[in-house]
Amino acid sequence: MSLRSEALKNLITGTETPVDSSPKITAIFGENVFTLATARKFLSDEGYKSLLASIKGGKKIDRAVANQISNGIRAWAESKGVTHFTHWFQPLTGTTAEKHDSFFTLKGDGTPIEEFDGAALIQQEPDASSFPSGGIRATFEARGYTAWDPSSPAFIIEMSNGKTLCIPTIFVSYTGESLDYKAPLLKALEALNKSAVEVCNYFDKNVTKVTATLGWEQEYFVIDEGLASVRPDLVQTGRTVFGAAPAKGQQLEDHYFGSIPERVYAFMRDFEAESYRLGIPLRTRHNEVAPSQFEAAPIFEEVNIAVDHNTLLMDVMTRVAKRHKLHVLLHEKPFAGINGNGKHNNWSMATDTGVNLLAPGKTPKTNLMFLTFFVNTIKAVHDYSDVLRAAIASAANDHRLGANEAPPAIISVFVGQYLAKVLEDIETRVGDKFDEQDEAILKLDLHRSIPELLLDNTDRNRTSPFAFTGNKFEFRAVGSSANCANSMIALNAIMAETLKNFKKEVDSLIEKGDKKEIAIMHVIQKYIVESKKVLFEGDGYSQEWHHEAERRGLPNIPTTPLALDAMVTEKAKHLFESNNIYNHVELEARHEIELEKYIKKVQIEARVMGDLALNHIIPSAVNYQNKLSANIAALKAAGLPESHFKAQLDILTQISEHLQIVYTRVDAMVEARKIANNISDIRTKAIAYESQVKATFFDEIRYHVDKLEHLVDDAEWTLPKYREMLFLR
Ligand code: ADP
Ligand code: MG
Repeated sequence: MSLRSEALKNLITGTETPVDSSPKITAIFGENVFTLATARKFLSDEGYKSLLASIKGGKKIDRAVANQISNGIRAWAESKGVTHFTHWFQPLTGTTAEKHDSFFTLKGDGTPIEEFDGAALIQQEPDASSFPSGGIRATFEARGYTAWDPSSPAFIIEMSNGKTLCIPTIFVSYTGESLDYKAPLLKALEALNKSAVEVCNYFDKNVTKVTATLGWEQEYFVIDEGLASVRPDLVQTGRTVFGAAPAKGQQLEDHYFGSIPERVYAFMRDFEAESYRLGIPLRTRHNEVAPSQFEAAPIFEEVNIAVDHNTLLMDVMTRVAKRHKLHVLLHEKPFAGINGNGKHNNWSMATDTGVNLLAPGKTPKTNLMFLTFFVNTIKAVHDYSDVLRAAIASAANDHRLGANEAPPAIISVFVGQYLAKVLEDIETRVGDKFDEQDEAILKLDLHRSIPELLLDNTDRNRTSPFAFTGNKFEFRAVGSSANCANSMIALNAIMAETLKNFKKEVDSLIEKGDKKEIAIMHVIQKYIVESKKVLFEGDGYSQEWHHEAERRGLPNIPTTPLALDAMVTEKAKHLFESNNIYNHVELEARHEIELEKYIKKVQIEARVMGDLALNHIIPSAVNYQNKLSANIAALKAAGLPESHFKAQLDILTQISEHLQIVYTRVDAMVEARKIANNISDIRTKAIAYESQVKATFFDEIRYHVDKLEHLVDDAEWTLPKYREMLFLR
């Protein structure tokens, strides 16, 4: 019996994993998090105040207080049965990393004790040599350290065989270069805070802090684990490199609002409960468009926390799925021909006075404040669309962008009819002076149209990579498996820079004698004119948009190696350096790491294709050919004329043709890889992997393999088919 048929049999006879009846969410929420409320209980006054000051105002915690805090955290963790702790960080590999240490230690005289001192809380030295550093460690010092990020609370991960205390940390080299996603993210958020507060102060002197907010929507597929585990491509690359389209795909669109299957539902309830314990405020769960595709979304949070929660969730989902004998696919394009996975990043900014800066306000003043941040966002996306594009570039996302129901690689902004009209009105006032009496402009009457505005937004924004959705922008082109820190670093950085320049321009008009509001209106108008070509309200999936975008001069870079160029332009260096987010060494290192990741991913996919072709596809095809030829020989021997085995001969011929092509193309692909491997310049090598390996061979080989799948006896086919993975659970 083939592994495939065994997996199918187990799937059909398998039993369900029972789940505890759903606990009340409020009863378990944050149970495994060292929240401020918990800190209040477990810390001394001094410790608590110091922690609070560090969270709220970024104040440094001194060593003595750190000892008190670490003791409090240990007491809490031990009360929950924790024995080990780890510095939890987000290296550039795209996953999370942990190195577990136990509280257990021996005193000088050999007495065993449990200990977790302030030094262990604040700093650790994982062996950094195996994490990507893009040559930084080679150039500088070979070691790095993790450092506590007090703004993200410690939490406890529960595994079946133990509990671990996780301390969120940044990961930096000894020479200070960041080696992870969190360090630059914190810097970008700080840059935004600074620029945004200054601009807010035009309108409200009481604003002292601006926090960027993020609400992600995570899409994923869930399939049977047994079936997934006998697909070497899913195991090794996260996507199916082969697989013929099933008779029924998503054409009926019956999955979207359908009911959630029992087994998946049990899994959801289970991972949600675990997420709630970790303080991840999940709110929605629903089916997505493709069969077996779902989405989870939380209530939005401050960006740093939201990013931690998203990486944690991806981890929790993957782990909990195993308990239900399910397999979660977070890849951007697990199955060809049907929708891929995205991770929409809903983003806005909030002041410490409680104002959402992207919510159209009710009074003229707040309207103008809204308009300022709204137009600055459009201007930022216009000026730095290449930087945003680079931030979402990956081998996996290349499969999705521009494919089925996915935004194109062209970055444009959707604002909705109503706001498009508002912008137009402001723009056409050229020559016309904005004067203080101009109530109409300052008021804009935005508030009266809000319901209309939201209606207008529900549907048509779906095809836009960057859409305004009523009180936030939604960056829809982010890869589902990506760490959303990368897109958030870029977005907050470009916003920080744009606001900074905005402030300069407004100030200089004020100096020349303009009244503040008038100066602001003038710069807003200028920005609208300068950035209007990035606005697009039509169908982003259409071919016409590609032509139109080209006419407008908007970049459309479909492949990662070239999209990444935008990370190291003079413009990008200035952007990131002047806002203290990356220095040029870090940028170049990151550029190199991304190229390296790209090359490796394509290389692995190519190898997996070769492996599957030679060890699965061709053997299955040959077995069936043997059956057919034996049959033909027997019929011939029995004296039947050829007209009676023409079908068999025809199938045999077709199989031979496809099989020969698969074999020779796989062989040629190996040669192409050898040539690419000899290229020393990493960018040229990545481009070669894209054009000479991926683009030249992947689709072609797949085409013939998928033809074989249609021709070969189902009983001989060893790989689970799309119809099985997508519809059985
Ligand atoms: P829709 O996708 O239909 O607009 P919601 O309005 O509920 O649905 O929002 C979707 C996501 O946007 C949720 O994750 C939500 O938390 C997030 N979101 C809502 N408001 C904000 C905000 N001000 N900042 C960041 N994210 C937000
Ligand atoms: Mg949405």
